[in-house]
Amino acid sequence: MAEKGKRRCSFCGRPESEVGLLMTGMTGYICNDCIEQAHNILREEQLLPKSEFCMRELPKPKDIKAFLDEYVIGQDDAKRTLAVSVYNHYKRLMQRDCDDVEIEKSNIIMVGSTGTGKTLLARTIARLLKVPFTIVDATVLTEAGYVGEDIESLLTRLLQVADYKVEEAERGIVFIDEIDKIARKGDNPSITRDVSGEGVQQGLLKLLEGSIVNVPPQGGRKHPDQKMIPVNTKHILFICGGAFDGIEKKIAQRLNTHVVGYNSVQNNFKIDKGDMMQYVTPQDLRSFGLIPEIVGRLPILTSLRPLDRGALRNILTEPKNSIIKQYIRLMDMDGVKLAFDDEALDYIVDVAMEYKLGARGLRSIVETIMQEKMFEMPSSREKECRITKAYAEERIVKSGAMTMMA
Ligand code: ADP
Repeated sequence: MAEKGKRRCSFCGRPESEVGLLMTGMTGYICNDCIEQAHNILREEQLLPKSEFCMRELPKPKDIKAFLDEYVIGQDDAKRTLAVSVYNHYKRLMQRDCDDVEIEKSNIIMVGSTGTGKTLLARTIARLLKVPFTIVDATVLTEAGYVGEDIESLLTRLLQVADYKVEEAERGIVFIDEIDKIARKGDNPSITRDVSGEGVQQGLLKLLEGSIVNVPPQGGRKHPDQKMIPVNTKHILFICGGAFDGIEKKIAQRLNTHVVGYNSVQNNFKIDKGDMMQYVTPQDLRSFGLIPEIVGRLPILTSLRPLDRGALRNILTEPKNSIIKQYIRLMDMDGVKLAFDDEALDYIVDVAMEYKLGARGLRSIVETIMQEKMFEMPSSREKECRITKAYAEERIVKSGAMTMMA
C-alpha cells in the first residue's frame, strides 16, 4: 500500500490532497466523489435496496388518532381522516412494483377557520411520522416571472429535511398551508391574470398529480446556473389547509337552493347554522375559486369545527404541552411553583371569546398576564406564585394590549 501523502483514488486517480475523503480498501483506495458516482449508478440501475416499512411496526389509524388526541382538542373528523390517510400512505409505500392493483395516493384538504388547529394537527402528526415531512406556505408562491417563489420551491424544504436524499423525499408528506390564498379572485377566469391565482394553481396541479419536477436545492427563485434536483412527486402525499374565509356563504347558498322543493328527507335535514363548514363539498371549493383540476386532485375533504368555550378552556390545560403546562414548566426552572385559579382560567377564556381571538389568542393573553411575574419571580425569594382572577384582570386592563388586538 502507498504511504500517506502518496495515496491516490484507484478510480479517478486524484491524489489524497485533492479529494475530500479517501477510503482505504484491501488493495486500493476510493474517494468520496467516486463513491457518490457509484451510488448514483446503482440508483439509476434501481439496484439500491428500498427502505421498507414493516406492517407490524406501522402505527395503525387508531394509534395515530390516540397520539393526536394527546395534543389536539376535539376535531375528531379531521383526526380520523388524517390518521387513515397517513396509514394508507405507508401502505402505498410498501406496495411492490409488480402488484397489478396500484394504490393511488389520495391528497387531503382541511378546511377550517384560522386558529382551529390545522397546522397543529399537521405538526403533531409530523412527530409520529417515519417519512420526511414539511410545512410550507402557499402565500409565498407566484407564477413564474413574478416576484416570489417558484412552485418547485415547495419541495426544497422536503429535500432539506430528507438530507437531500431524493428517494426519501419522494416518499414524504408536504403540508401546504393557506391554500385558499391562491384561489382565483372573482368568478371570471383570466380576464386579468392575478399574480397569485390561476397560474399558481396550474403549477401546483403538476406537483399534486405526480410528475418529475426540478427543485432548486436552496429554494427561492430559479436562476440559470443553479443545479436542479429532479424529484418525482408521484408518491408524495400532499395535505392542504386553508381558512377559506367566506366559504360559509357559498355553502349556505348551495344548501338553500338544494333544500327548496325537495322531498321530505331533505326538508327534515336540520342545518346547524353555527357551523356551516361541516357541510363543505368539493363544489364549494370550486365556487370559492379553486380550479376543478386542483379540487379533483384533493379527493379527501375534511373540515375543522369552530372552537367553543369548552374547547378553549380545555386547550389551556389539557394537551400534553398545553399553554399553562408550558408556563408552569418555565417557572419550575426557577424553582417557583406556579398555579392558576380556575376562575383565572375561565377569565382568560372570556377574554379570548370576547375579542374573537380563538385559540390563537390564548397564548398572548396568558403571556400578558404572566409577563410581570416572569420578570420579578426569578430574582425573588418567593417560591410560590398563584394567579387569581383579580390579578389576571388587573394585568390585562393595565397592559391595554387586548384593546390593541381587538
Ligand atoms: P390554524 O392552522 O388552523 O390557523 P393553528 O393550528 O396554527 O391554527 O392553531 C394556533 C394555536 O392555537 C396552536 O398553536 C395551538 O396552541 C392552539 N390550538 C388551535 N386549535 C387547537 C386544538 N384543537 N387543540 C389544541 N390547541 C389548539
